[in-house]
Amino acid sequence: MTALPFAVMTPAPLRQVRPAGWLQNFLERQASGLTGHVAVSGYPYGFKFWGSQDDDTRGAYASWWPYEQTAYWIDGALKCGYLAGDEQVYRQALEEVDFAVRHAAPDGFIGPANLREKDRWPHAVFFRAVLAQYEISGDTRYLEALARHYRSTPHPMGWDRDVTGVEILLNLYQETGQPDLLEQALDLYRRFNRKWPRHDASIESLLSERRQTTHGVTFNEEAKLAAMLFCATGEEVYLQAAVNGFAKLDRDSLLADGLHSCSEHMGGKDARDIHETCDITDHAWALGYLLQATGDARYADRIERVTFNALPGAVTKDFRALQYFSCPNQVVAAANTNHNLNTFMRGLNWMSYRPDHEVQCCPGNVHRAMPNYIARMWMCDQRGGIVAALYGPGRLQAQAGKERVGVTIVAQTRYPFEQGVEFTIQPEKPVEFAFTVRIPAWCKRASVRVNGREVDAELRPGSFFALERTWQPGDAVRLDLPFELALEHWPRGGVSLSYGPLTLALPVTARAEVERENSTTLQRMRTLGEAYEPRPAAERADFPAWNLYPAVAWNYALCVDEDSLQSLKVEWNPACADPLDAGSPALRVRVPARRVRGWKLVHTRKAVQRGHWMENGEMHRGRRTVEGDFLYTPPLPNPDRLAGRLEEGVEEIELVPYAATLLRVTVFPQARG
Ligand SMILES: [Zn+2]
Repeated sequence: MTALPFAVMTPAPLRQVRPAGWLQNFLERQASGLTGHVAVSGYPYGFKFWGSQDDDTRGAYASWWPYEQTAYWIDGALKCGYLAGDEQVYRQALEEVDFAVRHAAPDGFIGPANLREKDRWPHAVFFRAVLAQYEISGDTRYLEALARHYRSTPHPMGWDRDVTGVEILLNLYQETGQPDLLEQALDLYRRFNRKWPRHDASIESLLSERRQTTHGVTFNEEAKLAAMLFCATGEEVYLQAAVNGFAKLDRDSLLADGLHSCSEHMGGKDARDIHETCDITDHAWALGYLLQATGDARYADRIERVTFNALPGAVTKDFRALQYFSCPNQVVAAANTNHNLNTFMRGLNWMSYRPDHEVQCCPGNVHRAMPNYIARMWMCDQRGGIVAALYGPGRLQAQAGKERVGVTIVAQTRYPFEQGVEFTIQPEKPVEFAFTVRIPAWCKRASVRVNGREVDAELRPGSFFALERTWQPGDAVRLDLPFELALEHWPRGGVSLSYGPLTLALPVTARAEVERENSTTLQRMRTLGEAYEPRPAAERADFPAWNLYPAVAWNYALCVDEDSLQSLKVEWNPACADPLDAGSPALRVRVPARRVRGWKLVHTRKAVQRGHWMENGEMHRGRRTVEGDFLYTPPLPNPDRLAGRLEEGVEEIELVPYAATLLRVTVFPQARG
């Protein structure tokens, strides 16, 4: 098999896919930035875990997490290096994959012995890299090694994340068709549901209307398994569960940049609700399985929205620093500005752009987001057809049609910084197959031309459209996707603007300071006291941590409503060389706005903080009030009193793609009339 039997579509293997244009540039920046120099993020990066039989987790670090975090990086770096054609980055990651596979125990178990009986979550993270290398090389020894691993030792179910082995088992079943791997996946999933019937990701909870409040990464990683189990078994209840769980997530927690709030537990939809960077990667990855299971184009729209907005909005554009927590409205990002509504680590540096963080999952997981997007742009259906599922510049080299004829499809575009895609289809000889394109749900006026002639058919927003014909070498498919401005509504009377797949935001020019004393170290010393143990770090001047403060006015209310929306002008910028560059953004929208008096940064000396700390030689966890000097992005002004706080004069402010911002206002108060 190369696809699970009930999947509507399945990603083309990595070896068939290449990015181009701005996506290639993004990966090259990753490679010359943090992905290629991950040691600057500090321990556990720069140390070998999967790539060594030495145990570097002794002392205070004796745990599973160094294996989880380094596995995130291995997976991201392997795919990034391969897709970008950066041999050095690719080899660096491959070395660790190959070492672990070659040094399996005699019974087949891969990885450190202390993870044999418990905590198999890091294995699921690492094995995604092993599966990627199988996709790249086609070498079935990688599959055999993983299958042997799962047959070596009874799989534990000590904590809920142990269930993530299901993802790997089903990938192995997909490639090998060996029924015991499916049986093991089903058994693992049953044990999870028996042990935690009320967990937010259990079948029972997913099917219910209960609000979900669990940890964001946990939810995405576990809830998506139901979609995969549907693809493997065709059991409708799995599909309903996954669809309902992710619909509830949107209903309760979706934010303006396309990602749900998770700080780190799922929260609400306020302009200051924040998300953990890990979830940028994990949510898009999870939605990819829902897309495969349902063939519902709206999941692809959502993957694009996360990848084009939330992802670039949480990293510096040179990919040398990232936020742990990011947010639609963040007008300050420094060592004392985490305004987390959930109070978790409030007041600390978790919203600052820096190469390291106190918890190091995000500095590993961030490497996977864009490579995974590119890896799923092209899908295959079950009848030899090809689906252009996610858009952007690149190409696919695959086989298509009943006779499996070789075909190259090139997507030429700057999408989403251009309103369409030009596909060129080059089969080795004329061949009949369905080439399916996506009509995003936001696109009301899409059109498709084949060799210049418009296709006369209804192109329904939020659907896939199949072009079935005998394709000749050089055939061209032009897909036009006119963007439209849309006004979206948020709590406290907030509004945001989107334009096609792009969220728009006011870029807030920053006064940027390079951090002189490492605030991550200071925070850890303060909370751990005598228990503090320095973590090996490899700081470099060309990978600084930043403190960003607003240098311009940002406190505007938008004078816009549904009626006046269409009078706004979108100015595309033909001189834009880099769509992530705030200095020359791909487009600008001028919007009338009025300043709001007294809407300013929150400055406070006390913070209620949920976290951990040492007291009298004992570790405490919970909520406490800490003293310090804290600076927060403020909540939206009370909408009932807004009218009395508006300045008289109407100004024009310029909104740009969220992707090009570091500090920003995305959700604004709405000034009527
Ligand atoms: Zn994280």
